[in-house]
Amino acid sequence: MLKVSQHAQGEVTRLRMARTLLGKPMYITSCYRIGKLLVDAGCTRAAHELRSALAHDEPRTILVTHGHEDHLGNCGAFRAAASYGAAGLGIARDIPFYRNVAWGEPNPGTILPVGDGKDEGELQFLPFPTPGHTPDHLAYWVPERGWLFAGDAALGPLKYGFRDESIADYLASLKAMRDRKPTLVFPSHGPVMEDPQEQLGAQIAHLEGLRDAVRKLAREGKSDRAIALRVLGPPGALGVMSLGEFSKERLVRGLRRL
Ligand SMILES: [Zn+2]
Repeated sequence: MLKVSQHAQGEVTRLRMARTLLGKPMYITSCYRIGKLLVDAGCTRAAHELRSALAHDEPRTILVTHGHEDHLGNCGAFRAAASYGAAGLGIARDIPFYRNVAWGEPNPGTILPVGDGKDEGELQFLPFPTPGHTPDHLAYWVPERGWLFAGDAALGPLKYGFRDESIADYLASLKAMRDRKPTLVFPSHGPVMEDPQEQLGAQIAHLEGLRDAVRKLAREGKSDRAIALRVLGPPGALGVMSLGEFSKERLVRGLRRL
């Protein structure tokens, strides 16, 4: 079971789902509520708590950023809501054991193509393609407020590469989001960005700095493993637990291709 907490920021409420150990959050995912619209629907391990938190004001519309189990996990649990995402959205199935333990098997229900976007009151939620983390990842842009709901397109300073991700596309998407000049960015796995130019810029600079360091060591003939160790440190718990699905070597390989 994951603990769900609500954090209001003006018209937006962040529903934060955290697994805690000795009071310390171990891993976190978030979805966001704006009126009767949800951006992402969290993971099934938090289904009961999330539905309780929203019971007084059930969502009508769910916008999905991408097909991972910690984002569309509960779409099928909100029967009165229609869920939308990228056309032909790739939905995570038969997820590895460690992800099942963390998030639970997803219950995506039916996800319809989002088309040109959806309205909630006076606000428009427009799909903003941000490939990289997954090829079909969508952020959602709200022009009336300058908000960007970023899903997993802005994961903080990357230390690991993920299977199926494209670092080149991820970096291009970070730049596209920065260039849109949002007033606030709402990511899935970190706090709300209140200074997106600075914060997205720092994530871009981090990746470009890593790219330069990787290139230098690659020119010296170092292996991916040796470069990962030098630039990113030992494989780390996530690398071991995920049996290599997340790994520092994958990030090095992705950076070499930039
Ligand atoms: Zn994801």
